[in-house]
Amino acid sequence: MSAAGVVIVGGGLAGQRCAETLRRRGFGGRIAMVCGEPVPPYDRPPLSKGLLAGSVDVNSVWLRPSEWYADNHVELLLGVRGIRLDPARHVLVVSGGRRVRYDRILIATGSRPRELPFLGGYSNVHTVRTIFDVQRLRPQLAAGARLAIVGAGFIGQEIAATAVGLGVSATVIEAQPAPLAAILGERVGAWFAELHRSQGVRVLAPAMLDGARGRSRVEELVLADGRTIKCDVVVVGVGVALEMDWLGGTGLPTADGIPTRPDGHTALPDVYAAGDVAAVFEPRLGLHRRTEHWDAAARGGAAAARAMLGATGIQAPPLPSFWSDQYGLRVSYVGHAEAADEHRVEGDPDERSFTVVYERDRRPVAALAVGQPRRLAELRREIELGNAHLIRQEEKEKAA
Ligand SMILES: Cc1cc2nc3c(=O)[nH]c(=O)nc-3n(C[C@H](O)[C@H](O)[C@H](O)COP(=O)(O)OP(=O)(O)OC[C@H]3O[C@@H](n4cnc5c(N)ncnc54)[C@H](O)[C@@H]3O)c2cc1C
Repeated sequence: MSAAGVVIVGGGLAGQRCAETLRRRGFGGRIAMVCGEPVPPYDRPPLSKGLLAGSVDVNSVWLRPSEWYADNHVELLLGVRGIRLDPARHVLVVSGGRRVRYDRILIATGSRPRELPFLGGYSNVHTVRTIFDVQRLRPQLAAGARLAIVGAGFIGQEIAATAVGLGVSATVIEAQPAPLAAILGERVGAWFAELHRSQGVRVLAPAMLDGARGRSRVEELVLADGRTIKCDVVVVGVGVALEMDWLGGTGLPTADGIPTRPDGHTALPDVYAAGDVAAVFEPRLGLHRRTEHWDAAARGGAAAARAMLGATGIQAPPLPSFWSDQYGLRVSYVGHAEAADEHRVEGDPDERSFTVVYERDRRPVAALAVGQPRRLAELRREIELGNAHLIRQEEKEKAA
């Protein structure tokens, strides 16, 4: 490589793991990280858990202490965004117009929360993606406050659990019949709904949000069936949009993920992608697939670094997996539940210690464990060894 070295766009987990892996593997050239946020890379899972609860200090969320960057000669461009990529000239244009040359570049710009247009402009409507979001939201969650959460995905659920711990009265509004029903099935979704209800959360599912009333602040949300929910604070957790609009004109797509090989290499020479924004080729499935989880971002960033240094034989991304913490319970998941044709429950959901095994033709393709980490590890091995060809068949049927 020349003096231009490696440029990483996006100072999140994928970008950080790329930089670390390059140095660990002996890369001595220049590494520059273009970080859209004005702070060094930090970990997002604590945001909806300990940081919002106040049990974790902001200083414990940094992925590395600040001196790590100087010690490892990793240049941080804080509060600077990549705005245009010129792959033919190997140049990234950043906010302010500066041109940054690269030999290899990693796109790791992640995602931002989707917003609901009719809730725009209200001062008490929040999303949770950054430490700044948490700093704005936290003071609103005083004991007795009425919080409405739109969307019962894992982030919405974690915020409900954290808020209840702060003495806040929480209502969750979910369009599906039960939280996460589309991914995990209605039976498991119903278990999550019950978990929250048992802690005092009002779970409205299925419930369609139709509008909001109030002047500068939302005072009540209105559902399609006419019900109203009075609130002091609103959190919207309805999924994410990818940060890839700035890639226009490169030949790479600007929505729905950047297709990459398992090693993160895109269709453009010397351009790699990792993390939420990457749609990684899954040889087991024969298609590209995006994963919005911590494990995939960490491994994807590291894989791209190895490939930049010439490693070959990076075969397959890991199985999708995630965890969530709610009311002191650890929920873990691995695999492709969407490929299952049935699921069975091992253990006792009432005791909050059980595993749901998702099967296709009686072989496990995914598992969700509540309080049973060892069983999940066993199933992960079985799923990895198992029936990828059945999943591939399912995906082809869906695509047809
Ligand atoms: C509140 C919360 C809780 C979560 N909890 C869990 C969990 O419990 N388990 C789990 O598996 N996953 C969890 N996740 C998901 C996980 O954190 C993400 O999948 C992971 O952070 C993705 O990493 P990334 O590096 O791809 O992107 P990000 O972490 O989003 O980092 C991308 C960075 O790039 C910056 N950027 C964007 N555009 C530009 C640009 N043009 N130029 C420069 N910089 C740019 C962004 O500002 C951001 O700082 C959680 C996410 C959130 C938000």
